[in-house]
Amino acid sequence: AKVAGKNCHRFYSRAMDQAVERRVSMEQDLRGAWERGELSLAYQPVYRLEDRSLVGAEALLRWHHPEHGMIAPSVFIDVAEQSGLIETIGPQVLRAACADAVAWRRDFPASNLFVSVNVSPRQLRNGDLAALVDHTLAQTGLPADGLHIELTETAVIGDELRVSSLLARLRDAGVKVWLDDFGTGFSGLSHLRRVPVDGVKIDRSFVADVLRDPDDLALTTAIIAMAHSLGITVVAEGVEKEGQYDVLRERGCDLAQGYWLGYPMNVHDFRGLLG
Ligand code: C2E
Ligand code: CA
Ligand code: CA
Ligand code: CA
Repeated sequence: AKVAGKNCHRFYSRAMDQAVERRVSMEQDLRGAWERGELSLAYQPVYRLEDRSLVGAEALLRWHHPEHGMIAPSVFIDVAEQSGLIETIGPQVLRAACADAVAWRRDFPASNLFVSVNVSPRQLRNGDLAALVDHTLAQTGLPADGLHIELTETAVIGDELRVSSLLARLRDAGVKVWLDDFGTGFSGLSHLRRVPVDGVKIDRSFVADVLRDPDDLALTTAIIAMAHSLGITVVAEGVEKEGQYDVLRERGCDLAQGYWLGYPMNVHDFRGLLG
């Protein structure tokens, strides 16, 4: 038993070392990945439910690792966040997304598309996001109404005073602020009273079940009604079926995105949607 215990201990510490090693090597690889052209943006189209017109796109980061191939943001965003690399990558994402939106608006003036950019908790905590946004809009020439910022509920929790004044600055400038993954946090509803946002994105875990779980449908319907009574726009994410689209439209949800409407795609393919 003693031996087994010892081996066991050794096994676990080795497994832990390996996990740490993987993290460290991923962090090293991620450093400079943007400059080497390994990072790019995929765009997922966002539609107005009422008439299914294309209104914008969410920018989603992709990492094409030279040895390991495509790595999902669910894997590397966390490393970028923990290591602080997100504070370099985030601004690069923002600038690239704004520059792409400027080109869409220039080449397809009638489209008037927005681009929606995910901002991590760390970016919100450190540095001056409002100043960065100002600077990036000026640099790229994107009008403020062409940019949406997506924040998760967890990013907003804890520091509501500072966050609300930051969001107020963004919104005064004309940038729209959306609360991402809405409904997954504990205090989503109470937050809306204290943190000023333009919209909420209903988490796809609710959307996934609107057709088969009456509770999820009831919750989704309640979120829509409540948001509208506060003058807030509602976006549904993760629409994978026509039936989900229909039910969301019927309940008055404003915008939607999801595989049924369009997968995240490279900028070239996204431009193909425009004409
Ligand atoms: P998110 O902001 O909730 O983004 C939506 C995720 O849902 C994306 O995953 C998208 O590909 C996926 N998705 C879209 N439609 C559907 C659908 O119909 N069904 C299902 N099952 N999934 C769908 P992705 O691209 O893997 O991104 C994962 C997360 O990584 C994002 O979640 C976001 O939190 C984060 N992320 C991505 N890009 C960035 C970035 O530039 N900066 C920061 N800070 N985070 C990012
Ligand atoms: Ca998002
Ligand atoms: Ca989301
Ligand atoms: Ca459910």
